[in-house]
Amino acid sequence: MKKLSVRLRITLLYTFFMTVLTAASLFLLFSLSSREVLTSTGAELEEEVHESVEELTIQNGEVRVDSDFYSLEKGVYLALYDEQGYFLYGRVPYGFDVQPEFEAGNLRKLNDRQKKWFVYDQFFKVDGENAVYVRGVTSITDVEEKFYVTMRIALLSLPLMLVVTVLAGFYFTGRTLLPVKQMTSAVKKIREEENLSGRIGLEGHGRKDEIYVLAETFDEMLAQVERLFRREKQFTSDVSHELRTPVSVILAQCGALLEDETLTDRQKEQIDLIRKKASGMAEMISELLFLSRADEGRQTLHKERLNLSELTEMAVEEQKLLAEEKGLCRTFELQIAPEVYARADESYYIRLLVNLLENAVYYGKENGVVKVTLAKNGKKIEGIVEDNGIGISEEDLVHIWERFYRADSARSTDSHSGLGLSMVKWIVEAHGGTIRAESRLGEGTRFIFEIPE
Ligand code: ADP
Repeated sequence: MKKLSVRLRITLLYTFFMTVLTAASLFLLFSLSSREVLTSTGAELEEEVHESVEELTIQNGEVRVDSDFYSLEKGVYLALYDEQGYFLYGRVPYGFDVQPEFEAGNLRKLNDRQKKWFVYDQFFKVDGENAVYVRGVTSITDVEEKFYVTMRIALLSLPLMLVVTVLAGFYFTGRTLLPVKQMTSAVKKIREEENLSGRIGLEGHGRKDEIYVLAETFDEMLAQVERLFRREKQFTSDVSHELRTPVSVILAQCGALLEDETLTDRQKEQIDLIRKKASGMAEMISELLFLSRADEGRQTLHKERLNLSELTEMAVEEQKLLAEEKGLCRTFELQIAPEVYARADESYYIRLLVNLLENAVYYGKENGVVKVTLAKNGKKIEGIVEDNGIGISEEDLVHIWERFYRADSARSTDSHSGLGLSMVKWIVEAHGGTIRAESRLGEGTRFIFEIPE
């Protein structure tokens, strides 16, 4: 199941609690009110009967009733009976079929087939021997029905309230979480652009709430990371500078020693080994210096209109010779369109090709094929360097552009420090182009770069 957003989850959660709470309150309210309504209806009935009894008078030995005895106040029907239970005067509600015995002063609840009733009787002494009864009747069913109508209206308005709550809740939660959205997109941008100097900066947010504090903490952390990163780069650059001279001296001294005729072959072999290692170090130092200059923005391009077809053929030819010198058997297949021109920096373009070709040869198979393609594709130049060598696994493929990353470090030697592709990427991007790699482990790798003409 797809994960619900925080916004939706908060809305649903409090809508659920609101609904439960409202429903419980309504239930409590209705059950209490229904009891209260019944009690007050009974009390009203008693009051009406008492009042009407008080207003009874005797004239010439006969009972006289007040004029509003007949007037049905508060839904109370009043009727006058003699002691034997004969109806004398007044009104009995339609449908009141039960005629219970008289029980003065006792509020009773009676049911007939259709309705429920409250009945209350009171007697009035006419003279020493005779008395009359006043009976008050009111319909409980009518009162309850009125009450149920109110309850139904309230229950029907509940879904409407729910919709309003959901919509309002969704809107306000969205507004509250807006800074989180801003933070996410700011951090995403920083990551995509690999720009550690970027900040979230929620100043416009106004209030200093928890989200603001979180963003502020995040910005502080970014500043710290940026400082550390800069320090680390500075350290790499300083070390490279410091090492450049001693390594050059070692190389020069090795060269001089190798000329010395008095040395034995064994000694010369050992010095040659030192020279090879030192030359690997010199290569790495030069790559590191290249990248630190690039980081500092001090690496400048001298673009000119170049015949890339010629340069590519030359670079391949050179790599062919070097591979042969190293005793590596590779077949080079060229598909280079003639007269492909572009505005590029010559030394950088050669460096780019050399790196890709060296890798294709080095990570290629014995008797493997290195295929180089160059063609014009609209306003872009497309170059492909492809081999059928060891390939790169899917997990490694995303990391190969990182500095010092080596997919197979056991195989890589001193001269393969994992800096080559970082340089390649920088060169292509500095020319306003893009580069990507496609590979299958054990089958081969293809690097495709595009630069504007
Ligand atoms: P390195 O100097 O170690 O070759 P790169 O930056 O040129 O460093 O390459 C990084 C890593 O990418 C290499 O260590 C290697 O594992 C992998 N790689 C580069 N090119 C190829 C290739 N053509 N075939 C297989 N793996 C390659």
